[in-house]
Amino acid sequence: MQSSGQEPRRHRLGVMGGTFDPIHHGHLVAASEVAAKFHLDEVVFVPTGEPWQKAKRRVSTAEHRYLMTVIATASNPRFSVSRVDIDRPGPTYTIDTLRDLHTERPGSDLFFITGADAMEQIVSWKDSEELWDLAHFVGVTRPGHELTDLGRDGVSLLEVPALAISSTDCRDRVADGNPVWYLVPDGVVQYIAKYGLYDRDEPPTPPGNLAGVS
Ligand code: ATP
Ligand code: MG
Repeated sequence: MQSSGQEPRRHRLGVMGGTFDPIHHGHLVAASEVAAKFHLDEVVFVPTGEPWQKAKRRVSTAEHRYLMTVIATASNPRFSVSRVDIDRPGPTYTIDTLRDLHTERPGSDLFFITGADAMEQIVSWKDSEELWDLAHFVGVTRPGHELTDLGRDGVSLLEVPALAISSTDCRDRVADGNPVWYLVPDGVVQYIAKYGLYDRDEPPTPPGNLAGVS
């Protein structure tokens, strides 16, 4: 068979890792902006398993965080959600996320999307040298954080529309009885209320269990 001489274009896969407790519009805008600027075919959101950097606070179960991420991304045909980190036992390391996605998607070039605060920690990550071979890194601006230029190949910096939203602030607002409408997608507002997430006194209801909801 004759070849046309042109390599088929490789699939470009964005990877947005996070605790997503809860997912908010800052995450979604960052992913959308990187997808547009880097011509990504898809962005996969990867909720962490046991978050090793957040061991000091109560983190919602992986299932709750996974389901909120599915709800938030469902309407975008280029967004998807992966369970690789949730289904792997033990703490989540980005190196494992990228290795697993490489194995699952051998035809894809990976673009790891990270906010300015997480970018600062990048060099402290386990096995950081191998990270650069596995993915191109895109650091995005985030209000209140300096975006460090690591000055190396394989890292790009991108200014995205500034949304001063954090999951910590969303959790605090819910605990204090303040609204999170328009900070997180509508379905996520309703999901938080349905399962009583972030209540200061009451533990949340497990996913799928609606006992007590009238
Ligand atoms: P928490 O307050 O619990 O740490 P968070 O808002 O920082 O939550 P994470 O799940 O920790 O959200 O973040 C996942 C990724 O999204 C990180 O790379 C983070 O830097 C990035 N990110 C989070 N919020 C924003 C935002 N408002 N703008 C740009 N990037 C963001
Ligand atoms: Mg964070």
